[in-house]
Amino acid sequence: LSQLFRPLDMLGWVYRTIRQGVIDMGAMFDLLDTGAEVKDAADAQPLAVQQGHVRFEGVQFGYDADRPILKGIDLDIPAGATVAVVGPSGAGKSTLARLMYRFYDVTGGRITIDGQDIREVTQASLRAAIGIVPQDTVLFNETIGYNIAYGREGATPEQIAEAVRGASIANFIQALPDGLDTRVGERGLKLSGGEKQRVAIARTLVKNPPILILDEATSALDSRTEADIQATLESIEQGRTTIVIAHRLSTVVHADRIIVLEAGRVVEQGTHAELLREGGIYAEMWARQAQEREEGEAPVAE
Ligand code: ATP
Repeated sequence: LSQLFRPLDMLGWVYRTIRQGVIDMGAMFDLLDTGAEVKDAADAQPLAVQQGHVRFEGVQFGYDADRPILKGIDLDIPAGATVAVVGPSGAGKSTLARLMYRFYDVTGGRITIDGQDIREVTQASLRAAIGIVPQDTVLFNETIGYNIAYGREGATPEQIAEAVRGASIANFIQALPDGLDTRVGERGLKLSGGEKQRVAIARTLVKNPPILILDEATSALDSRTEADIQATLESIEQGRTTIVIAHRLSTVVHADRIIVLEAGRVVEQGTHAELLREGGIYAEMWARQAQEREEGEAPVAE
């Protein structure tokens, strides 16, 4: 009977996941392994990541044929660089991330990693190379250890311990009654937004991917937690090609390059200082958020 209910459970979970707007696409695909809109090419080869140089070349995409969302995006993300994508709600920021993970195929142009078109490599190898820290992490009704190890099949206790340290949740876990064996979720421990983020970071560290996609949480964390998590994220970005989908501009100041997306086009790009000097959309968004910070509101880039 449980065999019968499993798929139903799964569907419920997928539904909740989509409803919450979560893009834990890795989890979704790993679990379902079906429903994918894209298929491996007959002669698909495993992706060979040398440095992790990501390029979008004239990328076009729409969820519906008559409504283009991305209208020719060119992005060159050098290996190991951190690029932040900002812009108004609905600009297409998360769509960029979904395309990179090949949740959908581009309708024009191409995306390459170290020169390999992502449509020509196996999805398993592509998704193994990309780690996603989603906006809102889905935790399973399982132990906290299971939730972390889920990042990688066959993770060793040492790898898990290292990830726990890297994500700065070692103290939190040590203080739990059963440590890593403590159950979480609906039937167990409830984690705060910040703690869930850290579990997601640990899960990603276990996976140890050369490419990272960070979809910044939109839900307001208190400012101290946010600053702590920001520091942890910046440390895991080291040595990996990172794309940050950002809502708070305060978290993108350190990025090597900031891309401003508006209505499916890149309208500005540069470092924080360059964009402020330019006095365009980014500078305007920055001024607005600075004012909101002064007024004590949660600064969100929308
Ligand atoms: P936000 O800052 O609000 O997260 P965003 O810049 O990430 O916004 P996207 O989520 O990429 O925006 O969405 C871009 C556009 O695509 C929006 O108009 C959205 O309504 C549309 N869209 C997103 N997902 C789908 C989908 N699965 N089917 C159809 N349209 C979609």
